[in-house]
Parts: sequence; C-alpha cells; structure tokens
Amino acid sequence: MNMRFNTDDVFAQRIESSIQENVSLATYNTFRFNYSAEYFAIAESLDSLKALLAWANHFQLTVTMIGGGSNLLISADVSGLVILNRLTGISAREHSGNLVSLTVAAGESWHQVVKYAVEQKWYGIENLALIPGTTGAAPVQNIGAYGVEIKDVLARVQVINRNTGDVYWINGRDCGFSYRDSFFKGMWKDVFFITSVELSLKKQAELLLSYGGLSESIGERPSLQAVFDTVCRVRSEKLPDPVVLANSGSFFKNPIVSQAQHSELKERFPNLVSFPFEEGFKLAAGWLIDQAGWRGKQYKGVGVYEKQALVLVNHSETNAAALLELEAKIKRSVLEMYSVELEREPVQLPLCRESQQ
Ligand SMILES: Cc1cc2nc3c(=O)[nH]c(=O)nc-3n(C[C@H](O)[C@H](O)[C@H](O)COP(=O)(O)OP(=O)(O)OC[C@H]3O[C@@H](n4cnc5c(N)ncnc54)[C@H](O)[C@@H]3O)c2cc1C
Repeated sequence: MNMRFNTDDVFAQRIESSIQENVSLATYNTFRFNYSAEYFAIAESLDSLKALLAWANHFQLTVTMIGGGSNLLISADVSGLVILNRLTGISAREHSGNLVSLTVAAGESWHQVVKYAVEQKWYGIENLALIPGTTGAAPVQNIGAYGVEIKDVLARVQVINRNTGDVYWINGRDCGFSYRDSFFKGMWKDVFFITSVELSLKKQAELLLSYGGLSESIGERPSLQAVFDTVCRVRSEKLPDPVVLANSGSFFKNPIVSQAQHSELKERFPNLVSFPFEEGFKLAAGWLIDQAGWRGKQYKGVGVYEKQALVLVNHSETNAAALLELEAKIKRSVLEMYSVELEREPVQLPLCRESQQ
C-alpha cells in the first residue's frame, strides 16, 4: 500500500498493515453488487477502530462503516476507507425488579442477540427475530417488525466520534428515532459510528401479538419461545433468504399520508391496505406495488419478489444499474396510480457527504 503512517507505535503499524486496497464489496452486501472499496479494513476491537479512524483522518479520507450489508444499495465504487464492524462481546446486568440491561457490541449478529435473550427468558426483542445484520446497524434505521421497534427497548447507544476518536454514550431518547429513521441515518451520519448498544429487557412476561397476524399464527399457547419460533417461521416463508436470492429486505418504506389523502384514496380503492399512524395513515407499500402489477415481474437481471412485492431481488446483475431503473419504473407507476411517492429504505453507497454537497 502506498500510504504509510510515519509512526513508531507497533499497534498502529500492525493495524495499518491490515488495511487492504481496492477490495471488492460483492460479498459484503446482500444485493451482491460488485463495487470496490478504495481501502478496506476490519475493526475487531475499539482500539483497532480508533487506530483505523486516526489513519483515515491523517490522510483526510472519508470513512464508511458497514455491518452485514443487508440494508445497502451500493451503486458505485466507494472512495476512502470502508470499515467492516466486527466488534464483539455481550454482557448482562440483572436489576432487582423487572429489568435486565443487555450490553451488546456493535458487530454482534442481531438475530443471535435475539436468540440469546429468548434463551435467557428476557422479553422485549422476540418480535425482531431473523432481521439480518449487525446490532450496531439496528438503531441506524430503527429496525422494526411485528409492532416492535428497537427504540422501544434501547436505553443507550455507545458511539465513537469519527473525527476525534472520543467514545461516549447517548440516551436512546436523544437519537431522533422515527419510522425506519434516526439521526444516525441523517445528520449524525458524518459524525458518529455506533460501537455498542444497551438494551432494556424485561424478566416478566410481556408479549405483543397484535401485529401482522402473529396471534393467529401462534395459536392457543403464546410464549416467548413460541413468538420467536413463529416469527422465524413466518419470515422464512415470506421473505427470500439473501444467501439464496440476493435482496435487501423491504426496498421501500410504507408511505405515510394525511387523513384527507387517505379518505380520497379509500374512496377510489376500497381495498386499500392501510393502518392509522400518528396524525394520518400508513399505506402498505407492498400492496400498492402489487396492485400496480409489479409482483413477480423480472426486469433485466433483477425483479420484484413473487411472494412480497416490497422486496426487490437481484438474480444475476453485478452492478446496480438495472435495479435503479426498476426502482424508477415502480415509483413512477405508483405515483401515477395513487399520487403517492415511494421512498427507498436501504442506504445508498457511496454516501452523500455533507462536506461534498
Ligand atoms: C431478508 C431481509 C429482511 C429484512 N427485514 C427487516 C425488517 O423486518 N425490519 C427492518 O427494520 N429491517 C429489515 N431488513 C433490513 C436490514 O436487515 C436492517 O436494516 C439491518 O439493521 C441492517 O444491518 P447491517 O449490519 O446489515 O447494516 P448495513 O447494511 O451494513 O448498513 C446499513 C447502514 O447503517 C450504517 N452502519 C452500519 N453499521 C453502523 C455502525 N456501527 N454505526 C453507524 N452506522 C452504521 C451503514 O453505513 C449503512 O448506512 C431486512 C433485510 C433483509 C435482507
């Protein structure tokens, strides 16, 4: 590698020698698009992460952190340093009352954390089983499923300031969480990386079964384990496994419309699938796309998943061009049919940096 730190620090030298140049990201994103990172490294400890940030700052490189790559739309080579988060470690603190604090390093698999909590008989995240990716990325878009979002159980987030290397905790309520969004996806994306999270779980039974037909699927005897098993089973039946068919889960957010727009749409489309949400309604984006005739359609080497129109899949493309074209076509037809603008859920890389705008 051309760029070398002039340092006597043996640890920094070792970290620097682990940085690779021009690395394909094909196996690091679940769409499997084959773009490259200019520089690439794996952070396995907080110290190695600090050393990598110091290296990138020294050479004034942009830094992008990725986890499981299951919410990424990479559409060009990524300049600067891409860091793969592999920080590990889980610890729990049982409080005297109903609460357990579970502290999880950002590189741990989210699903394994859910499985561990269920094994310990701790309640709160069982509805979020089988969501791919790392624990550190979960707060970025405030992951959610079956009526639960990570914000509901997130006490604190540990972050590292990418410019200074300082590490501190931020309370969950200060992270700007909303539907599939947070400050980490917006105004903090150039400032903080998440290094750890602290979840607040419950020891006494508290199940939420009222969403997505969960209670009907579970049957007579709901239990923590039954919820976990049912969520895993239903999700495996409905969603494509990215190992078998490349995808990034829901490609669009469910659009939120006002009461007035909802009434108007309901009059024109009596079967419209929608749910009351805050002041207005949330529309099922999958239903809109399905009704517009896209479910199961193939376009070049990409397509719309046959069992769930919200999921776009990649059959054979090595770059994102066809997927971006398909996205535009779907958005246009939904807009024409319902006057509703669909918004993409996965994060596009390279990120649009504030400083470059
Ligand atoms: C089959 C399938 C089903 C899915 N189902 C759901 C679902 O039900 N609900 C849901 O909400 N999502 C779902 N997703 C989306 C995805 O799994 C989640 O968004 C997940 O949290 C992404 O984790 P990741 O580690 O793969 O993140 P990545 O894709 O690697 O990164 C996503 C974004 O987070 C940033 N990031 C990653 N790690 C960090 C960090 N430590 N600090 C700061 N920024 C970071 C990245 O730069 C990027 O902007 C699904 C995806 C798939 C493929």
